[in-house]
Amino acid sequence: YRDWETKKIQTTCPHCGTGCQVNLVVKGNKIVGAEPANGPANKNLLCVKGKFASYKFVGSDDRLTTPLIKRDGQFVEATWDEALTLVADKFTALKQAHGGDSLAGFSCSRSINEDNFVFEKMVRTAFETNNVDNCARVCHSATVHGLAQTLGSGAMTNTIEDITTDVDAILLVGSNPTEAHPVIGSQIRQAVQHGAQLVVADPRKIDLVHNAKLHLQVKGGTNVALANGLMNVIINEGLADEAFIAQRTEGYEALKAMVADYTPEVVAEICEIEPEAIVQAARIYANAKKAPIIYCLGVTEHSTGTEGVMSMSNLAMLVGKIGKPGCGVNPLRGQNNVQGACDMGCSPFDFPGYQKVANQDVVHKFEKAWGTTLNPKIGLTSTQVLPAAIRGDIKGLYIFGEDPIVTDPDTSHVRKALENLDFLVVQELFMTETAAYADVILPGISFAEKDGTFTNTERRVQRVRKAVEPRGLAREDFAVFAEVATRMGQPMAYDSASDIMDEIAQLLPTFGGINFKRLENPNGLQWPCRDQDDPGTPIMHVGEFSRGKGLFMAIPYKPAKELPDDAYPYMMSTGRMLYHYNTRAMTGRTEGINQISDHSYIEINYEDANHLGIKDGDKVKVSSRRGSIETYAAVGDRVMADSVFMTFHFPDGNVNEITNAVFDDIAIIPEYKVCAVAIEPI
Ligand code: SF4
Repeated sequence: YRDWETKKIQTTCPHCGTGCQVNLVVKGNKIVGAEPANGPANKNLLCVKGKFASYKFVGSDDRLTTPLIKRDGQFVEATWDEALTLVADKFTALKQAHGGDSLAGFSCSRSINEDNFVFEKMVRTAFETNNVDNCARVCHSATVHGLAQTLGSGAMTNTIEDITTDVDAILLVGSNPTEAHPVIGSQIRQAVQHGAQLVVADPRKIDLVHNAKLHLQVKGGTNVALANGLMNVIINEGLADEAFIAQRTEGYEALKAMVADYTPEVVAEICEIEPEAIVQAARIYANAKKAPIIYCLGVTEHSTGTEGVMSMSNLAMLVGKIGKPGCGVNPLRGQNNVQGACDMGCSPFDFPGYQKVANQDVVHKFEKAWGTTLNPKIGLTSTQVLPAAIRGDIKGLYIFGEDPIVTDPDTSHVRKALENLDFLVVQELFMTETAAYADVILPGISFAEKDGTFTNTERRVQRVRKAVEPRGLAREDFAVFAEVATRMGQPMAYDSASDIMDEIAQLLPTFGGINFKRLENPNGLQWPCRDQDDPGTPIMHVGEFSRGKGLFMAIPYKPAKELPDDAYPYMMSTGRMLYHYNTRAMTGRTEGINQISDHSYIEINYEDANHLGIKDGDKVKVSSRRGSIETYAAVGDRVMADSVFMTFHFPDGNVNEITNAVFDDIAIIPEYKVCAVAIEPI
């Protein structure tokens, strides 16, 4: 493209939670390129997804451009009036016949804060239920619950810049940032080049292992045991920060008594690593002046996910490395706005701003603000809604921008749940596996066609700016939700995303000082930002934890719920790869990316491949107690013997056909990271 024919619109990358700033290059009404912008998180860097896959899907011919209604098993085009009348009438009829709690909504953690706020408001006021959730349920809900309980706030404590510059050590647990958060991965690499000692705790030999001082190649599902072992060493070697513990925490004596049993020898046996490695890791972390813990889904996606997160808090508090620069507990949130979808109250437990549904004063506050009576009952999580649909308790479901048939564990059950619904609405950019089950499909609009905000993993609210007009008849997503609510008897109307942010600021104390005018600042604003004079909060828990004192939780180790046995002898884990994002709805529409990566694969250790008679690239059958899929072998040493790894991006060979739908008791997050499988050559 030629510069004089184009304009550049700065916005926020629509893929991972890093929140990189990107300039979309626009010619006429078409995006023709993407260039890095100098954002606070990315400093002029973009990864392959941001550079090449952040815009081509916007102009794809596959986009949904008109409402569709299923008649006699076929989707036929409809007017907005026909589609919205049907949606409002059906949901109203189901509510009148079976009550509001027979309805549910899944919101979109890829979309803007303002859409998420209006979606949850529609579900709570018009559907009259708190059955609203977002995909954090299957990725970082354990973070929200675990950090809120121990620290008082379920969010990353420090900033990306702070934890990757001028630090002495980094403890990276269950996180593969070079593929899942590539710009952060490159910043961690730079930190190592500047002298930081990197300790990686991960069952796989991820790329950053090559930059690490120490790799703890732990067996899957043993994070809690590892943390207890590290704390055992820290306490026994006198490396705990006794003054910090005494002044700023509670629950220490119970923790100390519990971890006494987790000697390096005991933990080494559980984690299948050397006891000396546990001692060395504990010393590196405790002795470093500045050392953040960075973690991701390798900690959360377990039946003990919330306990794994609490263990990260325990570790940081034990050495007083929290509420300080270059320290803290730092979850890397997955999707671009999964932090925001949680902040906006797309949760059965929380109104916007984590104000509790269980608190009657909070319910009254929102009743007064929204001029209606609200259902006081805590709702169902998305992972509870699907089994409830199979039982017939959930009759109607509105899914905005999620594709649970690809993303949720044990997908045959998801199909059964969707088939069993009386009425399903899907609002989407593309025809997806889930949308095919809908009674009504409403066309959504992409990040490049709307104004609004995303909140990245470091709590930074940043602008999303409209670069091109929506396709076909597609409308603002929040306007569609407001119209559905209005037609169901709860009048709602917004002129702009800015107006919605003003309502958010009135209702969320932590967003009180945030508005679109202030967000023109290139650094955005990091919540808590309580009033117009508040510059935002780069580091949380300085001086005092959000809950007052930090709470130690004594957590014994519990193994994963399904371990390998004779019938299914391999332990399988799942995760992301560099080139694709989640269901590939966006990255899969970028030709160059598909040329590099167009099929699923399973990583198998050389030793196991030899034993099974499998060569690199061979087609294999992978089976679990839930079913079987076919995929291709990637033979190497990234995984240890007896373990295998698959990504979840591909509908062909979709690993979630065979993952295990068992859940953490607190956050109800699925155990994607451990299940037992068998492998055979085809
Ligand atoms: Fe986009 Fe994440 Fe890549 Fe940044 S690191 S360009 S936010 S996908």
